[in-house]
Amino acid sequence: MKVQEKKNNEVVNSVVSPIKEPKENDFMPKFTVSEVPSKFKSYPEGCKIEYSVYRFGDLKRMSGSELSPHQIYSDILMGVECNNFDKRKITFPDLNYIGVLRKVSSIGGLEFSAQFVCPFCDDSEFQNKEFEIKDLDFFDLEVPNLPINVKFSFGVRKFMPYTFEDFEFLRSINKELDKTAILAIMSISSKIFRSNKEREDAFNKRFDEFDNMEDPTENYKLDKVDKMLGHGLKPLSVYCNNEGCISKEKKLPIRVDLDLEGLELVVTPTRKFRESVENCFSFGNSEGS
Ligand SMILES: [Zn+2]
Repeated sequence: MKVQEKKNNEVVNSVVSPIKEPKENDFMPKFTVSEVPSKFKSYPEGCKIEYSVYRFGDLKRMSGSELSPHQIYSDILMGVECNNFDKRKITFPDLNYIGVLRKVSSIGGLEFSAQFVCPFCDDSEFQNKEFEIKDLDFFDLEVPNLPINVKFSFGVRKFMPYTFEDFEFLRSINKELDKTAILAIMSISSKIFRSNKEREDAFNKRFDEFDNMEDPTENYKLDKVDKMLGHGLKPLSVYCNNEGCISKEKKLPIRVDLDLEGLELVVTPTRKFRESVENCFSFGNSEGS
C-alpha cells in the first residue's frame, strides 16, 4: 500500500478525505483515514479514524531533541480520534502509517534519506540515498479474519496484531524489545481484563509458556504467526553509487530495510517545498502590512 503525496493544500489523494463539519471549538483541519495497512481488520465494524494536522509547536518539538519511541508514538496518537474503539488499540504499523500521513498533511512534500552498505563492494562504507514519501510502501495485513487461532500442544492460542496499548504495557515492565514478550502480549490482547494485575498474571503465564517451548515445530508456529500479523514497511530497493560496482552494471537492486522510528525524526521538507517557501520572502518596504 503506497503513501500518496499531498500537493500544497490538497488532501492526500484517495487515502484521506477532509471531514466537512469541524467540531465546535476545534479549528484544526481534520482528515478521515480511509485506508490503513491493517485494512481495519483489527477494529470494530463501522469504525472511523480521524487525525488533525500537527500544530507548529508539535513539529518544532518533534524535530528538536531526541525523543523516545514512546514519546514519538504518543505524539502521533495525540492528534488521532476513533469513534467506536480505544485509539490505543490502533496497530503499530497503522500508527506508523498515520504518523507519516499526519506529517505529509502538515508539511507537504517530504523527503528522507536512508543509509546502506553495498554488499557487492569490498568497502563497508555507508552510502546515502534520498527518497520521497511516495516511495514508501506498506505490506497489507493479508489474513482473512482476526484473531489468528494457533493450535499448540498446550492448547489453542489467539493472536491479534501488536498495538500501542500492548507496547505501553511491555514498556511498563521493560520488555518492549523482547520478541517473546511481544508475541505473548499479542496472544492475550483479545481478552478483557478487570485489572492490571489480572492482565500481568495472564501475560506472565503466557510468556513462560512461549519462553520454555523446546519443540522446533512449536517455535516455527510462533515465527509464522509473527510474519502473518506483520504489516509494516516494505524494504526499499537502491543501486550502489560506486563506479565499477557489479550491482550497478547489472542493475541488481540492494534491499534497504527502513526503521520508521528513526524515519519519524529524519523526515524533512523537500527542496521544492523549501524553494516555494523562500519565494514568499522579500526585503524592504515594498508590500504587505
Ligand atoms: Zn557496490
